[in-house]
Amino acid sequence: MFLFKQRKFFLTTIVAGIILSFTTASSSNADYSKFPKFHRFPNQPLSRGRVQNIILFIGDGMGDSEITIARNYSVGAAGRLFIDTLPFTGEYTTYSIQEQNPKLPDYVTDSAASGTGWATGNKTSNGRISTTVGTDKDLKTILELAKQRGYKTGDVSTAELTDATPAVLLSHVSDRSCQGPQDMANCPQDKKSAGGPGSIAEQSIDHDVDVLLGGGKQRYDQIIDGGNYVGKTVIDAAKARGYQVVTNAAQLQMAQPASKLLGLFSPGNMSLEWAGQAAIPYPGSGPQRCIENQRPTNEPSLADMTNKAISLLKQKAGRGGFFLQVEGASIDKRDHAGNPCEQIGETVALDRAVKVALEYAKNHPDTLIVVTADHGHTSQIIPPPTASNHSPGKFSTLITADEAEMTVNYATNLPAQSQEHTGTQVRIAAQGPQGENVVGVLDQTDLFHILARAIGAE
Ligand SMILES: [Zn+2]
Repeated sequence: MFLFKQRKFFLTTIVAGIILSFTTASSSNADYSKFPKFHRFPNQPLSRGRVQNIILFIGDGMGDSEITIARNYSVGAAGRLFIDTLPFTGEYTTYSIQEQNPKLPDYVTDSAASGTGWATGNKTSNGRISTTVGTDKDLKTILELAKQRGYKTGDVSTAELTDATPAVLLSHVSDRSCQGPQDMANCPQDKKSAGGPGSIAEQSIDHDVDVLLGGGKQRYDQIIDGGNYVGKTVIDAAKARGYQVVTNAAQLQMAQPASKLLGLFSPGNMSLEWAGQAAIPYPGSGPQRCIENQRPTNEPSLADMTNKAISLLKQKAGRGGFFLQVEGASIDKRDHAGNPCEQIGETVALDRAVKVALEYAKNHPDTLIVVTADHGHTSQIIPPPTASNHSPGKFSTLITADEAEMTVNYATNLPAQSQEHTGTQVRIAAQGPQGENVVGVLDQTDLFHILARAIGAE
């Protein structure tokens, strides 16, 4: 019996060894040639219900950890945010591909490549805005498709309107830094004076998007260097193309649906909602409670912008439909900065914007609402620090809605440096017709196909 067992062990070891060497050999010769097309959208959708409108929310850098931190702080661990109430939930992978070797993944994406993924259905390299890796060809976006099919369109962000996430819907440039006509150092071929489509700001106007709301006025104040509006600012060009331009919350409320709307509420990114002490290395900052209501009243909240955008798009659409993207941009930016209160304030602001859409959908159940992120980020909930056991990074302890202490850690880079995105999969959630299609493990590019099918383009 002993011998038999021993023999069996040997046989098992030999078989395992053969399998192992076979696996090793095959993976070292792995065929990556099909890699960019590896993830294919399942061609059997779970739902085909009729979709009138689409409202897409992107929490920039809003991974599961960021959602959990905001939930714990604002409503407690057993509480639920509005974004938690959407009935269908899946996860999607977010990797981009390498510019020099597009057969290989870049495991940590940025907002430009990830945005190109969900907006066009194509993987690209970090920094690219809806253009192909290597060959720099334009990729058709879901907003362009929706517009072609008669949908009214809107693009809203708390960042500059020319930042990566809003940009991927309405522009095509080789580098995300090419935000205004005077910012074109990294995309000389895209300049209007070189016969290109111009900067992101110029392209946003040329796309005739019905409602554009966010920050980034400094880009639209720049002088255009070529084409029909040479010598004018982008704002002047916008007015010449029929836009009404508003720059504060009161003007936004007065805006009428008769013309297209460009709202620029800040020179750069819009102001933050909350304040608090930044994370620092051991012993960390806090325990602290966040300081709320920090946004100046002349800047609209993300919920206000969402509400107005929906109202205008609905009136413009009449019996037709609309496509609206709403980005909570500074979740990411304050994650980079390692400031938990500022990060949570922006997450809660996005949640309140989602609430606006959920309220709208009560009376318009043919509205597909999708809430997702573009990539994961650095913040993590960790155990309370002690002298002998603590993070080598920086952290802060918050007193949550549970009246308990929660330590939030930032350790994806040296404490003095900008903290990094992470390569984790992130949540995608949905409500409304065809919302079931987000369940399972998807890739970011699948979202494009879900939306394209919802507007009848696939
Ligand atoms: Zn970022």
